Amino acid sequence: MLHAEHQVPRLRARQGPCDDRRTRAADFIAKRLAPANPAKDGKQTPMHGHPVFVAQHATATCCRGCLLKWHGIDKGRPLSDDEQAYAVRVIMAWVDKDMENDR
Ligand SMILES: [Zn+2]
Repeated sequence: MLHAEHQVPRLRARQGPCDDRRTRAADFIAKRLAPANPAKDGKQTPMHGHPVFVAQHATATCCRGCLLKWHGIDKGRPLSDDEQAYAVRVIMAWVDKDMENDR
Protein backbone atom coordinates (compact mmCIF):
# COMPACT_ATOMS: atom_id res chain seq x y z
CA MET A 1 0.00 0.00 0.00
CA LEU A 2 2.73 2.42 0.99
CA HIS A 3 4.48 1.69 -2.24
CA ALA A 4 1.40 2.47 -4.36
CA GLU A 5 0.91 5.82 -2.65
CA HIS A 6 4.46 6.84 -3.38
CA GLN A 7 3.87 6.33 -7.08
CA VAL A 8 1.19 9.01 -7.36
CA PRO A 9 3.46 12.07 -7.58
CA ARG A 10 5.62 10.32 -10.15
CA LEU A 11 2.58 9.61 -12.35
CA ARG A 12 1.63 13.28 -12.19
CA ALA A 13 5.08 14.40 -13.23
CA ARG A 14 4.83 12.19 -16.29
CA GLN A 15 1.76 14.04 -17.62
CA GLY A 16 4.08 16.46 -19.40
CA PRO A 17 3.96 20.15 -20.28
CA CYS A 18 0.65 20.03 -22.10
CA ASP A 19 -1.32 18.80 -19.12
CA ASP A 20 0.64 21.17 -16.96
CA ARG A 21 -0.62 24.10 -19.03
CA ARG A 22 -4.18 22.87 -18.81
CA THR A 23 -3.86 22.54 -15.04
CA ARG A 24 -2.39 26.03 -14.79
CA ALA A 25 -5.09 27.51 -16.99
CA ALA A 26 -7.81 25.90 -14.89
CA ASP A 27 -6.08 27.10 -11.75
CA PHE A 28 -5.73 30.71 -12.94
CA ILE A 29 -9.34 30.83 -13.98
CA ALA A 30 -10.61 29.30 -10.76
CA LYS A 31 -8.58 31.73 -8.64
CA ARG A 32 -8.51 34.93 -10.68
CA LEU A 33 -11.65 34.89 -12.81
CA ALA A 34 -14.23 32.61 -11.24
CA PRO A 35 -15.05 34.71 -8.12
CA ALA A 36 -18.02 37.08 -8.47
CA ASN A 37 -15.71 40.06 -7.97
CA PRO A 38 -12.12 39.00 -8.67
CA ALA A 39 -9.33 40.98 -7.03
CA LYS A 40 -7.87 43.70 -9.32
CA ASP A 41 -10.23 42.74 -12.12
CA GLY A 42 -8.78 43.90 -15.43
CA LYS A 43 -5.23 43.66 -14.11
CA GLN A 44 -5.16 40.18 -12.65
CA THR A 45 -3.46 38.61 -15.67
CA PRO A 46 0.18 39.58 -16.37
CA MET A 47 0.98 40.41 -20.01
CA HIS A 48 4.10 38.23 -20.02
CA GLY A 49 5.43 35.12 -18.36
CA HIS A 50 3.51 31.88 -18.52
CA PRO A 51 2.14 30.98 -21.99
CA VAL A 52 -1.29 30.73 -20.42
CA PHE A 53 -1.19 34.46 -19.54
CA VAL A 54 -0.37 35.35 -23.13
CA ALA A 55 -3.14 33.06 -24.35
CA GLN A 56 -5.62 34.65 -21.95
CA HIS A 57 -5.03 38.10 -23.45
CA ALA A 58 -5.13 36.71 -26.99
CA THR A 59 -8.46 34.98 -26.34
CA ALA A 60 -10.06 37.67 -24.12
CA THR A 61 -10.25 35.37 -21.12
CA CYS A 62 -7.93 37.61 -19.07
CA CYS A 63 -10.55 39.43 -16.98
CA ARG A 64 -14.29 39.59 -16.39
CA GLY A 65 -14.58 42.71 -18.53
CA CYS A 66 -13.20 40.82 -21.54
CA LEU A 67 -15.28 37.73 -20.77
CA LEU A 68 -18.38 39.94 -20.83
CA LYS A 69 -17.43 41.86 -23.94
CA TRP A 70 -16.14 39.00 -26.09
CA HIS A 71 -17.76 35.90 -24.65
CA GLY A 72 -21.03 37.27 -23.29
CA ILE A 73 -20.41 35.98 -19.77
CA ASP A 74 -22.02 38.19 -17.12
CA LYS A 75 -19.99 39.98 -14.48
CA GLY A 76 -20.76 40.21 -10.78
CA ARG A 77 -21.47 36.52 -10.26
CA PRO A 78 -19.19 33.49 -9.90
CA LEU A 79 -18.37 31.57 -13.08
CA SER A 80 -20.12 28.21 -13.38
CA ASP A 81 -18.11 25.03 -13.84
CA ASP A 82 -19.16 24.99 -17.49
CA GLU A 83 -17.95 28.53 -18.05
CA GLN A 84 -14.62 27.76 -16.41
CA ALA A 85 -14.23 24.66 -18.57
CA TYR A 86 -15.15 26.73 -21.64
CA ALA A 87 -12.46 29.31 -20.85
CA VAL A 88 -9.86 26.55 -20.40
CA ARG A 89 -10.83 25.08 -23.78
CA VAL A 90 -10.50 28.46 -25.50
CA ILE A 91 -7.09 29.05 -23.91
CA MET A 92 -5.79 25.57 -24.71
CA ALA A 93 -6.96 25.81 -28.33
CA TRP A 94 -4.96 29.02 -28.69
CA VAL A 95 -1.90 27.59 -26.98
CA ASP A 96 -1.97 24.53 -29.24
CA LYS A 97 -2.24 26.69 -32.36
CA ASP A 98 0.54 28.97 -31.21
CA MET A 99 2.82 26.00 -30.63
CA GLU A 100 2.11 24.75 -34.16
CA ASN A 101 3.03 28.13 -35.64
CA ASP A 102 6.30 28.08 -33.76
CA ARG A 103 7.41 24.87 -35.36
ZN1 LIG B 1 -9.15 41.57 -20.02
